[in-house]
Amino acid sequence: MKTNMPNTPINTLDSKVRINGISAEPPKGMTKARAEKRFAVLCRELFELQDAMWGARVNSVLVVLQGRDTAGKDGTIKHVAGCLNPRGVSVTSFGVPTTEEREHDFLWRVHKHTPRRGEFALFNRSHYEDVLVVRVHNLAPKKLWQQRYGHIRDFEALLAEHGTIVLKYFLHITRDEQKERLLEREKESKTAWKLNPNDWKERDHWDEYTAAYEDAISKTAAPHAPWIIVPANSKWYRNLVVAESIVDALRDHHKNWDKTLEEMGKAGRAGLAAYRSGIKRKTAG
Ligand code: AMP
Ligand code: MG
Repeated sequence: MKTNMPNTPINTLDSKVRINGISAEPPKGMTKARAEKRFAVLCRELFELQDAMWGARVNSVLVVLQGRDTAGKDGTIKHVAGCLNPRGVSVTSFGVPTTEEREHDFLWRVHKHTPRRGEFALFNRSHYEDVLVVRVHNLAPKKLWQQRYGHIRDFEALLAEHGTIVLKYFLHITRDEQKERLLEREKESKTAWKLNPNDWKERDHWDEYTAAYEDAISKTAAPHAPWIIVPANSKWYRNLVVAESIVDALRDHHKNWDKTLEEMGKAGRAGLAAYRSGIKRKTAG
């Protein structure tokens, strides 16, 4: 069963993205039961793909998760990482930069956490904060953050050139959904630890964030680093869309990884055969 996804990856520069015109709800006909069933299938496929990628060491994956407070960045990581072998996964959260980080260029702290070949890196926030929160709160001069789109394009092109499959997600929730989630968080003693007055303050800048996201997406979308806008008002649909798009992107490489593994296997066997015939010659001589 392949679900019909309305959220095609955005992969061309200057594509006109209007976030408010995109539904944050699952498409009609999609149910939680269907989504969870499909997710379980994808989860197993993802595990197999990761295994092949790990052995072949040709590619790596960078998943960038962006979205407003409560959009579900952590929840997505929990679900996607749950499909993977922990051996080859790293998760990095990017918060307010430390003094040391601020004294470097904005990509310094990010580049260190990009995945080596064979590995998966999951980013909770990323270098995009430097054209989002920084822009909305005037944390740097306009001229400076505007130049960052170009730096980001070059940076992601460099990663792709090195074999990194870059996938960028905007977890799209509505303002009403966010309010509900924040109130829920406050009510539940298990989640109240996440409370931060800043989340309510940020709501006052909703439209400015929308504009900042639209620019970030349209100025950095590329075939080698697409953006996927994820309808995220329902967590089960959000998880499905993210898993489906990662599997889609990796599937293209599976044959190549298998071919590499086969060649590695042949070389391994030949090495072993040479070693054994060397022993035979020695014992015969
Ligand atoms: P959280 O994701 O809830 O742990 O919060 C992390 C906070 O760090 C958010 O409010 C982000 O906006 C903020 N943050 C992340 N990156 C940057 C950055 N480059 N400059 C300023 N604030 C940032
Ligand atoms: Mg937060």
